[in-house]
Amino acid sequence: MRFETKAIHSGAAIDDATGAVAPPIHLSTTFARNDHGEPSHGYSYVRDGNPNVTQLETALAAIDSGESALAFASGMAAGAALMQTLPRGAHILIPDDCYYGFREIAHDFFERWDLAYDVVAMEDLDAVQRAMRDTTKFVWSESPSNPRMKVVDLAALAEIAHARGALLVTDGTFATPALQRPIEFGADVVLHSTTKYLGGHTDVQGGALIFRKRDALFDETRHIRKLIGGVLSPFNAWLVLRGIRTLSARVRVQSENAMALARFLATHPRVEAVFYPGLETHPRHDVAKRQMSAFGGMLSFLVRGTRADALAVTSKVHLFTRATSLGGFESLIEHRESSEGAGSTTAPNLLRVSVGLEHAEDLIADLAQALE
Ligand SMILES: *Cc1c(COP(=O)(O)O)cnc(C)c1O
Repeated sequence: MRFETKAIHSGAAIDDATGAVAPPIHLSTTFARNDHGEPSHGYSYVRDGNPNVTQLETALAAIDSGESALAFASGMAAGAALMQTLPRGAHILIPDDCYYGFREIAHDFFERWDLAYDVVAMEDLDAVQRAMRDTTKFVWSESPSNPRMKVVDLAALAEIAHARGALLVTDGTFATPALQRPIEFGADVVLHSTTKYLGGHTDVQGGALIFRKRDALFDETRHIRKLIGGVLSPFNAWLVLRGIRTLSARVRVQSENAMALARFLATHPRVEAVFYPGLETHPRHDVAKRQMSAFGGMLSFLVRGTRADALAVTSKVHLFTRATSLGGFESLIEHRESSEGAGSTTAPNLLRVSVGLEHAEDLIADLAQALE
């Protein structure tokens, strides 16, 4: 079955009790037990498991080509739980253009957790090879990356990681499983902030891990989720699953719009550079073409001039909302350095755009007048 079909049908079932076609939301925090003291329907307590979360996890595993999946309260909770599976003394490779929250976890907590890390430009495979240690457990990757839209060769990274007994973890939030399924290229764990495209409507927070196998790592991560408690609420699970149902259609239009916007920006005299994997000028366009079925709705660009010149552009747009986050149906524009705050490594004249479902011509006209 193809992605589009799986996204509609996985985790779906007509409700036995009522015939409801849309799934009911189960808000109960506890579940009845039988005479022998065992859970009568497999559920016990909400932090342990909930029918809406199970439905979502079934769908997530199916659409991302994994054997199993775990849903979390946020993308950060998902990533942190995975890091907490590591034994003392373990080492992780982190990409130089990494979602800043994960870079901050490494910086603020790894020493306390007795973990070590190195920051590597993951597109440089020799540099990755050189940075590997005997204690390296995870090669953490992000493709395309936030906010520089770097693309890394997932199959090559998986090979390097596996040769040294490490796992490849890929943050696939920007691409979504509609466009890229890292497990098909050798990744062992895929991370998504479901707050973004999977939710798709800017109204729900969540995170997910999809595992190549249902193995000891899955069990350990689930154990951590249950005890540390970063579980997704039943209503949020319901919203994310609803978002998945329309993901392929949304991302297809967003990719078309982003391509049109990237082509417009690439020829604009006030734009110094455009970062979009769909442009032939992107340094890893060939890798993106191999790994992705389209290039997604995210792009970033450098405004010629200073931080103030970039901020001035964001103050003149009408259709784009000035806000962080991404993946909703509406277009957002963000001065990334301001959002990342202290410790940001992002260029001060970089603007990041989450392209929505408006008409491409309207979006182009709005950016054109803002760049005048
Ligand atoms: C937003 C985001 C995260 C963190 O997800 P939250 O749901 O905000 O915790 C992780 N990775 C990427 C690429 C993101 O864009």
